[in-house]
Amino acid sequence: MALIPCKECGTLNSSEVEICLSCEYPVKGRPKTNWLKWLAVLLALIFVIPLALYTIGTVSTQTNVQPSSPPAK
Ligand SMILES: [Zn+2]
Repeated sequence: MALIPCKECGTLNSSEVEICLSCEYPVKGRPKTNWLKWLAVLLALIFVIPLALYTIGTVSTQTNVQPSSPPAK
């Protein structure tokens, strides 16, 4: 069992731990989580942007329709 200094805060961690016990930075330096995070952000953007555009389009259509509709009297 060796002690590995954390790249972020310098705390000595056991080589058996995955993340720093002090700052939770990955001790073994795996960039895997980083691109997974970006992939999640990218997927979120792909789903959120069309949804946001659709919502904006629906709202603007509704606001355009309302004044043109004849008054119910
Ligand atoms: Zn640390």
